Amino acid sequence: MDLFTGGHSGCRGCGAAIAMRQAMQALGPRTIMVIPASCMATIGGSGLKTAWNIPFYHSLFACAPAVASGVRAALEIRGIEGVKVVSWAGDAGTADIGFQALSGAAERNEDIIHVCYDNETYMNTGGQAGGTTPLSAWTPDTPAGKPTKPKDMPALMAAHRPEYLATASIAYPRDFIEKLKRAAEVKGFCYLHVLAPCHRGWGIREEETVEMARLAVECGLWILYEERQGRQRLTVVPEKRLPVREYILRQQRFRECREEDIEALQAEVDQRWQRMAAGAGGEELG
Ligand code: SF4
Repeated sequence: MDLFTGGHSGCRGCGAAIAMRQAMQALGPRTIMVIPASCMATIGGSGLKTAWNIPFYHSLFACAPAVASGVRAALEIRGIEGVKVVSWAGDAGTADIGFQALSGAAERNEDIIHVCYDNETYMNTGGQAGGTTPLSAWTPDTPAGKPTKPKDMPALMAAHRPEYLATASIAYPRDFIEKLKRAAEVKGFCYLHVLAPCHRGWGIREEETVEMARLAVECGLWILYEERQGRQRLTVVPEKRLPVREYILRQQRFRECREEDIEALQAEVDQRWQRMAAGAGGEELG
């Protein structure tokens, strides 16, 4: 049985919905989902008109990880075992408005999985810029392009030393599903950050959602890795990295991006990739 069914209320080709359908293959029916304000809160619907076949809880914007912590505590008090508790938030509910609750849950090492589905804008409220919006991206409130760089959320969460941390992309479902399965086996706080493009916010066609998520990995802008006990491993290594230009020029949101911005971004990606490749290697995590 599909645990997150078709016929949901998301836009056709929505990266967030694709991410959730992939995730439910890994998590299975004994899962409780906590979702704050976000596109995902509306995509799944509620009451009799819902795409969910598992229990879900709509929390306030700022507190999904805190609510998930409470759900876990309630399960423990009642002696119910074998249930995965997931707080699933967009980039706003993770990197900005929800960050204090997320940081607290990570610091307490709550036995929950937090998944950030990142479409790099506040799409539920009209596509405003947020903490993970890329430099130079057009949004309604950055009409000349975003003047600041995005937060590196996985790095911020790595500083909390979670039991397990990984990045993922909807273009690599097997990689994402394997990582979620690993997180589900771990006791303690786990963090996954999945790139889930929004065609409306990114200015691409709806059938290009997955292709753009793949291109982000192929040009080295989005690095797929996992981290456990301080050890990092790259899980997907592009055979030959494509120029970031190929990714940037395909998206309307980068229409204000100048040639020198693209060159600076390429240099940054090259440096980061070398750093990551040197540090992470191909070592298997225990
Ligand atoms: S606006 Fe974007 S994230 Fe929201 S439902 Fe539509 S495609 Fe998905």
